[in-house]
Amino acid sequence: MPQGAGHASFCGMSKPDRLMVDVTAACACGAVEMTLRGRVLSMLVCSCPDCQRATGTGHSTVALAPAEAVTVNGTTANFARPADSGAIFTRHFCPTCGTPLYGQSSRAPDLHMIPVGFFAGQNQWFDPTQLIFARSQQARDSVADHLPVHQTYRERDATR
Ligand SMILES: [Zn+2]
Ligand SMILES: [Zn+2]
Repeated sequence: MPQGAGHASFCGMSKPDRLMVDVTAACACGAVEMTLRGRVLSMLVCSCPDCQRATGTGHSTVALAPAEAVTVNGTTANFARPADSGAIFTRHFCPTCGTPLYGQSSRAPDLHMIPVGFFAGQNQWFDPTQLIFARSQQARDSVADHLPVHQTYRERDATR
């Protein structure tokens, strides 16, 4: 994920009024509940191989929010691995049913990356503004074709 993203100028520059959301849902087994309440800073689609593995599909659908906007109740597990950026990327999930909860980069620990499918039925607000890691997108995996596309990270983010 983009690095140095811990300040307000990150992404979505054309949207001065950041989306406010207030949604709560539970994982498949019900052991973990997560609430996203506050500003959504950015919304994107990522086709990197790690997201393909993590979701079992062609891409992840992610909302970026400040860590303080995210509340998790219940016991979670996590797995950390190096990302292409050199940062360590940690995915949190339910240890019982495996439902993805949120991801976090060591470069921007104050941001949570929320897989919006967690809030199925309550995520009509999701409106991604970019597709990243298009270089590993599969032709069969169709994503709204009006989205700006970046081969890896957004160029502006990758240089910071
Ligand atoms: Zn669960
Ligand atoms: Zn990804």
